[in-house]
Amino acid sequence: MVHTVNDEVRQEADMARNKVQFQKGLSETAFAALYGTEEKCRAVVIAARWPDGFECPVCGGRTYSEVKTRGLYQCTACRRQTSPIAGTIFASTKLPLTIWFRAQYHLTQSKQGISSIELGRRLGVTQTTAWKVKHKLKQVMMERDAGKRLEGRVEADDAYVGGERTGGKRGRGAAGKTPFVAAVQTTQTGQPVRIHLRRVTNFCNRGISAFAKRSLDPACEVVTDGLACFGAVKDAGCRHTVIKTGSGVAAARTGAFKWVNTALGNIKAALVGTYRAIDQKHVPRYLAEFEYRFNRRYDLAAMLPRLTWAAVRTTPMPYRLLKLPDVFA
Ligand SMILES: [Zn+2]
Repeated sequence: MVHTVNDEVRQEADMARNKVQFQKGLSETAFAALYGTEEKCRAVVIAARWPDGFECPVCGGRTYSEVKTRGLYQCTACRRQTSPIAGTIFASTKLPLTIWFRAQYHLTQSKQGISSIELGRRLGVTQTTAWKVKHKLKQVMMERDAGKRLEGRVEADDAYVGGERTGGKRGRGAAGKTPFVAAVQTTQTGQPVRIHLRRVTNFCNRGISAFAKRSLDPACEVVTDGLACFGAVKDAGCRHTVIKTGSGVAAARTGAFKWVNTALGNIKAALVGTYRAIDQKHVPRYLAEFEYRFNRRYDLAAMLPRLTWAAVRTTPMPYRLLKLPDVFA
């Protein structure tokens, strides 16, 4: 079965893309009104962490008193004092929460990401501090989406970060390239729903099998252009459909891959234009950042509060762990 991109599908894709490009997002004014002071940020963190009111992390007690001078909550039952940021990604930070919220703003509202040099400049902190803040937030994004699986119809492709053709296709074997799978869940008419950009050890049966088991629902139909290793999606129970490209028919696949290629193009632009160099051991986090934004592209303004919600549910990541190679499988 060969899919052709008919004009109607293409038009739909263009309209959807315009909707993403021209939506307002969170204006700087709105941001300042919501997150402009330490008190406001603190209240947002507390509301995100304890939506039903305080709950003691030790005994589950719900009554408390506040130790105002130190910003702590003291459980009435067991007397344990708790900071609202203890046990979260913000744990033990010396930075004001306003800095963390401004970082969340830049990370969610900028389409191509932001370098730690630029982020440091905007936040008024050193590049090293900006790097730590950014990578902790990327970690939140990665953990948030790690357990989610694509369902239904999925188009998958092989791609690389690094080497000569960042974000490009094929050209296997060159040193310095980090392989990843770009997979997109589509509607029956080929509209993209969600993407996964996931680091794989390499494009072999074992790599794809591991990817499929953690990333795809067993009922998926996986459509690829026939790279042999993708047959290993069957290990996860998925069906595999091959649609050959390269016979001069560039649009042999649906509009979905136009979107993936757009996403890959954005990554390439970001890696070349924004980041200049990317540390190979942190590729999974960079990919997670793009994946996170792409999958929430229709609600740009809500992306920040959703990230905060996830951040207070992500366990602390001290620098000594943050700088280790990302865990991706
Ligand atoms: Zn308690």
